[in-house]
Amino acid sequence: MKELHIKKIIIPLIILLISLVGCARKIIPSRIEQLKAERAQALRQKDSSSAIATVLRHAKHNRKKTIPKVIETGSEEKIGSPVLRDNSKYYDANYANYIYTKLANEYADTIAALPSTNDKGVDYSSDFVGSTNFNLRKPQFVIIHHTAQDSVGETLRTFTLERTQVSAQYVIGRDGSVHHMVNDYLRAWQAGQGKWGNITDMNSCSVGIELDNDGFEPFTDKQINSLLLVLQNLKERFNIPTANFIGHADYAPIRKDDPNVNFPWKLLANKGFGLWWDDTTNVVVPQDFNEYLALRIIGYDVRDLGKAIIAFRRHFCGIESKDTSMSPEERKILYMLYTKYI
Ligand SMILES: [Zn+2]
Repeated sequence: MKELHIKKIIIPLIILLISLVGCARKIIPSRIEQLKAERAQALRQKDSSSAIATVLRHAKHNRKKTIPKVIETGSEEKIGSPVLRDNSKYYDANYANYIYTKLANEYADTIAALPSTNDKGVDYSSDFVGSTNFNLRKPQFVIIHHTAQDSVGETLRTFTLERTQVSAQYVIGRDGSVHHMVNDYLRAWQAGQGKWGNITDMNSCSVGIELDNDGFEPFTDKQINSLLLVLQNLKERFNIPTANFIGHADYAPIRKDDPNVNFPWKLLANKGFGLWWDDTTNVVVPQDFNEYLALRIIGYDVRDLGKAIIAFRRHFCGIESKDTSMSPEERKILYMLYTKYI
């Protein structure tokens, strides 16, 4: 009777226990794997703003933490290689915005930090007394560019790939759409090497505006209208002097030719963005008028005089030519213009 009891109750009970343990072994690891997969998917999820927000919250307090790569789209592609013509696939806004916010937070911390008092050889007072009277520095120039690319999407892609190391505060499409990509108070990487007057770090004191254009075509009316609105806001907000609206080629005549010769500089000058010359009909240019000095006074880098003349001609005469000497009419225009700068 007792043996029967063991066979009927205890043995099935043991078998049941063994089965349960076996199942648990299978269920628990698979549940862990599932959770891992869900977490990885959340990080990869393009539309997962909550995942990005969580990362951003942690980023500010944990700078050394490795940045999770939310998206890896296009990371292997090279600039100039055949690109997708579907604009939606050009760039990854979520990843770019994550990086933008992270960097902006870091720069905000730099601004909020107390001034340095450990500069080499400087005898700082031991007591810090912060002034109560200050605000942010303001850009004092606007640099206008053409993108020399096929579409706004292509430019957004260029400006959201870290390895390109280029950007601008604004990109304006042929349809007049405006993309404000960098806060005006921050330093975009648009002007590069060049010289205007004695300024050699134009990125630090200017706002860059890129116009979607293949480098040769005319600019659309919608595009110019949007540009004028952006310029008006910038001029008012930062009190930018009228003479300080110039082209990339004016600042960097040796390297650049943008915006192209079709750009309506006269129209801009009529609206208060850039200087222009008056009627030259009765102008007699003085015998000793020096083109080199006149261009220098306006602001051009005259280390390569021929390149400065080409840039001046493109901007103020609306002519694209490689001729490095000025015609009598061009000399008149230069003379009239330079009198406005002195
Ligand atoms: Zn440019």
